Amino acid sequence: MSAANSSDVRKAVAASEPSRSEALYRRALQVMPGGCSRNVILRKPHPLYAVSGRGCHVIDVEGRTWLDFANNMGSQIHGHAPAAVIAAVHRQLGDGTAFSMGTEAEIRYAEYMCQRMPNADRIRFCNSGTEAVMCAIKAARAFTGRPKIAKVEGAYHGLYDYAEVSQTAAPNTWGAVERPASVPVASGTPASALAEVVVVPFNDTARALAILEAHAADLAGIVIDLIPHRVGVIPAEEGFVNALGAWAARNGALLICDEVITFRTTYSGAQQCYAVRPDLTALGKMIGGGFPVGAIAGREEVMRVFDPLSSPVRLPHSGTFSANPITMVAGLATMEQFDQQAVDRLNVLSDRARSQLREAIATAKVAACITGAGSMFRIHMKEVPPQNYRSAYPTSVEAERLGKLLAYMEDKGILLINTGTGMLSTAMGSAEIDRLSDAMLGALRQL
Ligand code: PMP
Repeated sequence: MSAANSSDVRKAVAASEPSRSEALYRRALQVMPGGCSRNVILRKPHPLYAVSGRGCHVIDVEGRTWLDFANNMGSQIHGHAPAAVIAAVHRQLGDGTAFSMGTEAEIRYAEYMCQRMPNADRIRFCNSGTEAVMCAIKAARAFTGRPKIAKVEGAYHGLYDYAEVSQTAAPNTWGAVERPASVPVASGTPASALAEVVVVPFNDTARALAILEAHAADLAGIVIDLIPHRVGVIPAEEGFVNALGAWAARNGALLICDEVITFRTTYSGAQQCYAVRPDLTALGKMIGGGFPVGAIAGREEVMRVFDPLSSPVRLPHSGTFSANPITMVAGLATMEQFDQQAVDRLNVLSDRARSQLREAIATAKVAACITGAGSMFRIHMKEVPPQNYRSAYPTSVEAERLGKLLAYMEDKGILLINTGTGMLSTAMGSAEIDRLSDAMLGALRQL
């Protein structure tokens, strides 16, 4: 065989051999439906598999280094493996990770969070954002004795039957804007669950209030994410939020803020930017310092529904790993480092990211726009920034263009959330933002 031939054969063999990621995915498909435990890791033709992360970088099994703007869907506020968290967890690991006893770590973190959040007189910890939203909804029902909740069309609040209604609404299912449909996500969702969820359009006060009025006697609470990711990473307008809050107060319903993601946007959560005070707040992601977490915080009178010392106990609440000391010490170490100065610095950096991305769009003269607030941004392949879920919903052409853009960014080693969303970490600086906007310009020019 000639030298040229043998090199061709080697190339052909290499091309047919699966990469490490492909091989892992094949194994995964044998033991997990779809090859994963969380659909969000799926990418074509196979997921990326991480080996390690440090700061704003992640190394995958192929040895590639990624600049991480996904940050585990926003949970890694300081990026990966921050020293203060490693030290706190290391200390705790040697002393045990979970007990059928309370720990001082739990009390210390509860004290810290109640002091940090003006609207948190009391707090309880759980294990995920899904669980936090579920507990908040159950608390609203227990407090008011009413069954229904209202939520914004398209907003993601986790997997609880009621919370997920309308999250995947599409043009063929979402119904009239005056009365958005309660669209199920999971097959088999009981019609009774759908009937308990009232869907309102985002930032459309008149329509939302008209819908709420029709259910006034039955509504336990209104769940709102103030900068909802799936709705487009568009900040809720002050007038909209205040109107919902005032309506809830007038009608004996509760206002529940889902700050599972948005707590990262200010020192005390996005709610700090609004006059209205939520009765309950659901927390998660960042406050676990990289470990599974959720929390429900709120007004003392409302949080009393969880009180196991009252008789009868209105809302029994437990969880084998709730408030485990690893999460508690990791969370506290993380939040202490995310002080006002760190919040401000990250938000200034994120302003810069949004403006550089907008400059790239203007330079490339492509139909695209940027939404976002705090330390989050989202790229839409639309000329005009969307106002709500329906206008943010990508057409098939826009979805295809976004897919191409993300593929180009991946080629440049930049990891974004597959909706075109980025969540910054404090491990980033202006060099990372320059890399992001340079890649964006290249991607747009290629379109
Ligand atoms: N609420 C919001 C706003 C979220 O973004 C998420 C997760 N993406 C959740 C709730 C659910 O949190 P978890 O994935 O921890 O269950």
